[in-house]
Amino acid sequence: MTTLQRWAVVGGGLVGAAIALRLQAAGFEVVLIDRGDPRRGASFGNIGHIAAEQCEPMPSPATLKSAAGRLFGWGGPLDFRARDVGMWGPWALRFLAASRPAAAARGAETLAHLLQDPLGAWARLAALAEGADDLIRPTGHAVVWSTPEAARRGLHAWRGARTGSATFRPMEADDLAAYDGVLAARPAGGIRFSGTGQVSEPQKVRDALLSGFQRLGGRVIHAEVSAVRPAAEAAEVVLADGSVVDAGKVVVAAGAWSARLIAPLGLRVPLIGERGYSVQSAEHAWPDDLPLTVFEDRALAVARFNGGLRASSHVEFGDPSAKPDPRKWRHIEAHLKALGVAFSDAPDRWCGPRPTLADYLPAIGRLQAHPAIHYAFGHQHLGLTLAASTAEWLEQMALGRPAPAWLDALRIERFR
Ligand SMILES: Cc1cc2nc3c(=O)[nH]c(=O)nc-3n(C[C@H](O)[C@H](O)[C@H](O)COP(=O)(O)OP(=O)(O)OC[C@H]3O[C@@H](n4cnc5c(N)ncnc54)[C@H](O)[C@@H]3O)c2cc1C
Repeated sequence: MTTLQRWAVVGGGLVGAAIALRLQAAGFEVVLIDRGDPRRGASFGNIGHIAAEQCEPMPSPATLKSAAGRLFGWGGPLDFRARDVGMWGPWALRFLAASRPAAAARGAETLAHLLQDPLGAWARLAALAEGADDLIRPTGHAVVWSTPEAARRGLHAWRGARTGSATFRPMEADDLAAYDGVLAARPAGGIRFSGTGQVSEPQKVRDALLSGFQRLGGRVIHAEVSAVRPAAEAAEVVLADGSVVDAGKVVVAAGAWSARLIAPLGLRVPLIGERGYSVQSAEHAWPDDLPLTVFEDRALAVARFNGGLRASSHVEFGDPSAKPDPRKWRHIEAHLKALGVAFSDAPDRWCGPRPTLADYLPAIGRLQAHPAIHYAFGHQHLGLTLAASTAEWLEQMALGRPAPAWLDALRIERFR
């Protein structure tokens, strides 16, 4: 094997793990480098939803209009860490530009391509993973509302929204009755999606990808990466202890921490940690056949995993490595109590950063100035959904096959 057939993937979240497995399975010699603390990245504590329906771009005039009413100070999920204004201030200006109608329309077009077939890509990737059975459940999901007025407005909004390959139908009384005994009060209305799904448990999926990768001969190094740099025709990875992994080609897939690895190469990237919070309870009374449910008027999602019941919420902009804000967990726990969901009094609390670029599209491609260095980060709220598809696009590039033309919109150089 020549040098250029060796790859290093920096970051072992769902995106990095999926890419490493695909490249190794395609015949490359791959090393994956990650800090080795699984709870650190967004891939650990997310809600596990394969969200094929999320085809409306986040930057849009509608998002701007609703933002004030969603602020944490008003009881909503949206917050900005005051001391990190130097990070989210410039990011927000780019976000405003991406929210203009023409830019939002272009974003929607790209999102539609990205979300063409996430379930199919996951089924293909899971087949390469260890213990492939039951990792991916194409069981759809539900969105419910607590009052008739919220249900009327919510249904109207979804009827006007792009949902890609996912479809939905209004829930009947029988569907809503499934929540009797699980919630204190039956939802006033809801919709049931098909063409979406969930995973058995996000960390279990990541473990299965990494086990499959290692079974095929892939190597994992647990270390902090301090730099990625071009070296002649190739690239290399510098570890915090000063040692160098001479890889040939590199993929930066370090989630919300990716920008600082790319910056020394001359690219300033508007990437923010959009932190979410979740709580998980081993004890619960959520039936196995009740789908992942979004309580839309509470901005809360609940999913049953193999290891327990998880609830997640919040979007808090700031430093990806900042200390968590315990008020956010208490807020989620108060919602669960108000809903009457049986839950532990001392749940496993988690907080982690969604890697979000200012236009809410990921960066996937290879650097124009240093073609041996590739990148796949910025998957925002859709990193679990898109990890398997992203790995397929990276594999196409690695094999030198023509990538779809629309992928050009995801080049990192778009932020120059
Ligand atoms: C509460 C919450 C709920 C969510 N729900 C969903 C959902 O239902 N569906 C969905 O599709 N998405 C969801 N997301 C988003 C999704 O979790 C993320 O987009 C995705 O996990 C990002 O994966 P990643 O691999 O890019 O980054 P990460 O998971 O953050 O992984 C990056 C890895 O790189 C490592 N790393 C970083 N820098 C270095 C370095 N210098 N050296 C070595 N290692 C390094 C990190 O430690 C980490 O292990 C949710 C996110 C949150 C927070």
